[in-house]
Amino acid sequence: MNKNSTAKPLIEAEIDSLKKITGRSCQSCSLCCRLLDVEEVGKQPAQWCPHCKPGRGGCSIYTDRPQVCRNWACGWLVNSDFGDEWFPQKCGIVVDMYPMEDGSIVARFHVDPRTPQAWRNEPYYSKIKHVALRGLRGDAGVQFATVISIAPRPWLLVLPHKEVEWGPGVTLMTGPDHWEFMQFKSAEAAVEFGAKLHAMEQVIAEVRDENPDLAPMQILDRAAPRLCESWQRREKAS
Ligand code: SF4
Ligand code: SF4
Repeated sequence: MNKNSTAKPLIEAEIDSLKKITGRSCQSCSLCCRLLDVEEVGKQPAQWCPHCKPGRGGCSIYTDRPQVCRNWACGWLVNSDFGDEWFPQKCGIVVDMYPMEDGSIVARFHVDPRTPQAWRNEPYYSKIKHVALRGLRGDAGVQFATVISIAPRPWLLVLPHKEVEWGPGVTLMTGPDHWEFMQFKSAEAAVEFGAKLHAMEQVIAEVRDENPDLAPMQILDRAAPRLCESWQRREKAS
C-alpha cells in the first residue's frame, strides 16, 4: 500500500488494541484495498486488489494477507480524532500515518479518483489543513508532512495557506505559522540542503545561548565563521 517501509510500522496487535478503543470496524468498506498500492500483490493505486471482494466480505485471503496489509493502520479505524464523517466508504478518503524510510512520518490522505474533489469539501478541507498545521508545528511532539494522493496525479503537499506539488524538497518556516516548500532536482540535493540548514540553525542557537544579549545581526556575524568551519569539515568528510 505503499505499505512498505523500513521505518517502524504499527504491529498487528497494536492496531487491534487501537480498534478496540475506537470501537470501529470496516463494515462493508474496502476502500484501502482500492486506493493504496500494494507491491506484494502486484496492486497499483486506484485499482481493486485482485483478492478484494468489495461489499462481499472484503479481503478473500484475510488470514494469509501479506504482512504489509497486516501492519498498515487505517487512520479512521484507529484514531477517533477523525469523526464518523471520515468513514472511508462514506467520504471517499483513506487516511494513514506513513513511516518513511528516512524515519520521518507523513500524514497521507488518499482520495478516491472517482470523487477527486472530496477533500476540498467541508469538513474535510478544514480538518486536513488543521492536521497539516499541527504536523508542521510538531504540536504532538513529532513533526510530519501532510500530503494528498489522487492517483495517478502528482502528490500534493498541504501547507496551511496552499497546496503545492510534492517531490524532493525542504519545507521552510518563513513566518508565524507560515511555511514554503523549496523543491530540488533530486532527493540527494534536498538532503544536502536540509543538513546545511540544520547545521546553520544549530550554530545560531549555540551562539545565541552563549551570548543572550546579542542583537540578531551580531549573532549572525559570530555564527558565520563557525558555520564555514562546519561546512568545510562536512565537505572534507564527504
Ligand atoms: S479504508 Fe479503513 S475502514 Fe475502509 S476497509 Fe480499509 S481499513 Fe477498513
Ligand atoms: S491482500 Fe487483502 S488486505 Fe491486502 S490489499 Fe488485497 S484485499 Fe486488501
